[in-house]
Amino acid sequence: MNPRYLLLALVLILGVAPLLLPPYYVTLLNYIGLYTLVVLGLVLLTGVGGMTSFGQAAFVGLGAYTTAYLTTAEQLPAWLAWAGASPWLTLVVGIALTALVAMVLGAMTLKLSGHYLPLGTIAWGLSLYYLFGTLESLGGHTGVSGLPSISVFGYALDKGEKIYYLIWVVLALAMLITRNLLDSREGRAIRALKGGQVMAESMGVNTFRSKMVIFVISAVFAALSGWLYAHTQRFVNPTPFGLNMGIDYLFMALIGGVGSVWGALLGAGILTMLKQWLQDLLPHLLGNNGNYEAIVFGVLIVLLMQRAPGGLWPMLVRLMPQRYRSRKTLPPEAADSPALARRQLPEHGQLILQARNVTRRFGGLVANNDMNLEVHAGEILALIGPNGAGKSTMFNQLSGVDTPTSGDVLFMGQKINGTTSRKVAALGMSRTFQHVKLLPTMSVLENVAIGAHLRGSKGVVAAALHLDRQEECRLLNEARHQLQRVGLGEFLYEEAGSLALGQQRILEIARALCADPCLLLLDEPAAGLRLKEKEALGILLSRLRSEGMAILLVEHDMDFVMGLVDRVVVMEFGQRIAQGLPEEVQKDPVVLEAYLGGAE
Ligand code: ADP
Ligand code: MG
Repeated sequence: MNPRYLLLALVLILGVAPLLLPPYYVTLLNYIGLYTLVVLGLVLLTGVGGMTSFGQAAFVGLGAYTTAYLTTAEQLPAWLAWAGASPWLTLVVGIALTALVAMVLGAMTLKLSGHYLPLGTIAWGLSLYYLFGTLESLGGHTGVSGLPSISVFGYALDKGEKIYYLIWVVLALAMLITRNLLDSREGRAIRALKGGQVMAESMGVNTFRSKMVIFVISAVFAALSGWLYAHTQRFVNPTPFGLNMGIDYLFMALIGGVGSVWGALLGAGILTMLKQWLQDLLPHLLGNNGNYEAIVFGVLIVLLMQRAPGGLWPMLVRLMPQRYRSRKTLPPEAADSPALARRQLPEHGQLILQARNVTRRFGGLVANNDMNLEVHAGEILALIGPNGAGKSTMFNQLSGVDTPTSGDVLFMGQKINGTTSRKVAALGMSRTFQHVKLLPTMSVLENVAIGAHLRGSKGVVAAALHLDRQEECRLLNEARHQLQRVGLGEFLYEEAGSLALGQQRILEIARALCADPCLLLLDEPAAGLRLKEKEALGILLSRLRSEGMAILLVEHDMDFVMGLVDRVVVMEFGQRIAQGLPEEVQKDPVVLEAYLGGAE
């Protein structure tokens, strides 16, 4: 069966469910829908973005209390009076308020790393929770009652089986938006947050902005759920917005499979049903005198996490036959899409990169000591030297990944030390990494498309509404073109992590080329390549040079270097010990001494 039919069947079942099921089950389904909406935000934030939040329940509360206050207050401040007229207006206020609060909290917490971020979310989660219980205008711990029901075109959704449809339509839209967003230029940037931030910044992605985007979206989804909840219950009090619920939301995400949109639905469904069944069943089995369900529930969660650490959805997908698994492929019309605009390359021989007296200390260790080098348009310069000489450190100074302790780096006439690697990328420098940095579960094509980030401009809203398709075709087409150029054309849809290490290095070159650079920095590109692959790489680099590109490379393989490059700079102990034409450098006694370790 085609997955589309499965989807259609699901929609049909959900469509008739409230007509056939007893009210108790409709209520349960309402809860599942409301929870899934929150968990969907966590899929984005935690599963995709790698940021754990215990505080989502507080955002649910923010959405719920905003509408509760505005629709029931006897006297609203004059400037807000318009909002009390309809729940739809309070929704607008709730979303705006939540987005604002999320931006402030995000600015404070998203820069935290490691376990400080989850701890931060606990802190503001608790603060908001206590705020709801403390403010007298919000009814303290007794809460607010008497909320009106939501009306759609004059039709009041005043019963569980009526608001059911609104909940599930909103959820379906949120799922669609999330999927669209992840399948886009911004989505690739978001997916790179988990484990690829240095790489993404080097490709021009503003990672902090991407984090903020998913933080705000996940908060808005939660607030939307809170708004629906408030008008389903017609009553709110602080209890469902506390830390306990924040933890439950995380459990739902983990159980379902934190990386997938469908995992959110599965997780919320299973956890809700499980809790209900345990509550109904256990008192019969164990007698009425204990709160056993919490204990049994905890044990089940631990077992589940052990058996399926990635969640249940990925397990289900693995059980499906290969051909049903959807894989992102290039749309057929993409081949005809116009090529992306190219950068004007500097004139042949023009000085484009200059390091002046660059020194980088790590504590007492001087990894780069008073280094000078120059790269001109249309030349290949090799930076060589024994292991630990400071070559990779130098690359980091040149590309904005790191900042020199002293000295200057000029690129295209601009001082770039102290700026970000993102800005350096925008000026036309693109790099690969000695230790390959790619997203192993993403396809080869999409990995390479990250390189073209700065050549697109469509943002989050366009992506969510699928208004970015033309540009997306052009970006992916460019990625395909570069992959074919480097000889990886037959692996477009493979997972990047499944390639051999040498091929992963070549993939990084394709990704760097996607940025349309005027200077390419390659850190040991030939390491791990077979002879034939090395030859092909040499031919590719020569061709790029003849097109006017400048290339700076670090390489150990002297045969490869000497036959290819125009000039060589030799480093030892962080210093430049020689430079010149390959044949000169090869004969230089200082260089021989460095390489042979002083053997006479
Ligand atoms: P190469 O690439 O030439 O093999 P590196 O630039 O990687 O050399 O390293 C040069 C020296 O700087 C080494 O001694 C290495 O241990 C040290 N080094 C590199 N990065 C760091 C860092 N982030 N902190 C401390 N020491 C570092
Ligand atoms: Mg190195």
